[in-house]
Amino acid sequence: MADTLFTNARILDGTGQNPYSGSVLVQGNRIKQISRGTAPISASNATVIDGAGATLMPGLCEAHTHFSWNDAPTLALIQAMPLEEHVLWCAATAKRYLEAGFTSCVGAACAKPRLDVVIRNAINSGQIPGPRYLAASQEITVLGGLGDETLPHLPFPEFSFGVNVCGANEMRKAVRMFLKYGVDSIKINLSGDNFTPQSPADTTWMTDEEVAAAMQEVRMRGKRGIAHARSSDSVKQALRHGIDLIYHASFVDDEALDLLEAAKDRVFVAPGIAILYAMLHEAEAFGVTHAIAVGMGYQIEWDAALESLSKMHKRGIRVLPGGDYGFAFTPHCQNARDLEFFVKYLGFTPMEAIRSATLYGGQIMMRPNELGVVKDGYLADLLLVDGDPLADLAILRDPKRLLAVMKDGVFAKSPKLSARLA
Ligand SMILES: [Zn+2]
Repeated sequence: MADTLFTNARILDGTGQNPYSGSVLVQGNRIKQISRGTAPISASNATVIDGAGATLMPGLCEAHTHFSWNDAPTLALIQAMPLEEHVLWCAATAKRYLEAGFTSCVGAACAKPRLDVVIRNAINSGQIPGPRYLAASQEITVLGGLGDETLPHLPFPEFSFGVNVCGANEMRKAVRMFLKYGVDSIKINLSGDNFTPQSPADTTWMTDEEVAAAMQEVRMRGKRGIAHARSSDSVKQALRHGIDLIYHASFVDDEALDLLEAAKDRVFVAPGIAILYAMLHEAEAFGVTHAIAVGMGYQIEWDAALESLSKMHKRGIRVLPGGDYGFAFTPHCQNARDLEFFVKYLGFTPMEAIRSATLYGGQIMMRPNELGVVKDGYLADLLLVDGDPLADLAILRDPKRLLAVMKDGVFAKSPKLSARLA
C-alpha cells in the first residue's frame, strides 16, 4: 500500500473545531502525521496530493442504511426482487455509497435474511468495494405490525417484509437465526409506521416479553439491538431494554426525552427525516400526492419529529444523519441531504451536522478511538472536497465536488489533481 501525503489542504477534522490549513500523511491504512500551516512533512515514497486549498475531512457515516432497498415505491416491491438480482443490486449500491463519500454505513435491516451479512463479508474480504459496514438482520416484527401487511390488491395479499414473531420463544428463535448467520445487529420493529396504514407511526406493537427475549439473546452474543421506534412508548421501551440505537423517535414526550438524556452516553438516534419530507413533498410521481401523505399522517409526524429532534439536539443527545434512502422518492446517495435538513429544520449548525456524520459516526460504528476524525493514528477514511462544506453543505452530495474518497488508506475515488512522487 503506497503512502499518501495531502498537502495544502484545509483540514476539517470532524471534532467540531474550526478548520485549519495543513498537511496529512497517510501511511498504510492510518493517519500517521498531521502538520499545521506550511510546516513540511518528510515522506519519501509517498504520493503527494496537492489539495490546492480543498477541504480534507473524515469520510461520512450513514447511520441508517438499507443497501437492499432497490428504489421501488413500496416494501412489497422491494421484496419482490429475486434473490440473485438482489445480491447484485446490494453490491452495486455499496460501491456507490463509498464513491459518494460514505466510508461507513450502519445497516438498519435488509430485505432478505443474509443480504447484509454477505455484502459485509464481501467488502471485508476485498471481493467488492464498499464502506465499512455493520450488517443487520431483516426486520423482526409482530403480526399486523410494520413489515407484515395484508395487501388485497396484490397477487401476494399476505405480505411479510421481515420475520413475524408471536411471543418470546418465536422471537428468540428468529434472533438466534440471524445471529447464526453472523449479523452485527438485530433489528426489531417496536412501533408502527405511517407507510403502512394498518400500523401507524404512533402505535407500539411488541410486548416487553418479546423485546426482553430478543435482547437477552443479543447480549449473550455480544451483539447490538437496534429498533424502529417512532412512537413515544416504543422509544421508552427501547431504552428500558437497553437498545442503544433508536431509529426515528418522531414522537417523544417529556418522560421519553428525560430517559434519552439520561442514556445519552450510550444512545444514538438516527431519525431519517428525509423520507417524511419526501412523502409530503416529493412522492407525487409515485402516486402519493401531498393530500394523500397528509391523510397518512405525515404532516403530523413531520411536525412532531422536528420538535422532538430539536429538543434532543438541545439536550446533547447524539442525533445522526441518514436513513431510509433507497425508496423511489428517496434515491440512494443523496443521503448527505440529511445534513442540510438538520441545519434547516433541527437547529444544528453546519459544524454540528458534520460532527454528527463524522465524530459520532466513528462512535456509532463502535470504533470511537480510531474512526471519524482526522487525527494522528486514526484510520485513513478521508474526503477531499472542492469548497467549504461549512458554507454550503450541499456540495457534499455533488459528485463533481467530491474530489477524492479514501477508505482505509486506499482511494475509492482517486483525485484528478496533479499528483507527484515525493
Ligand atoms: Zn429504515
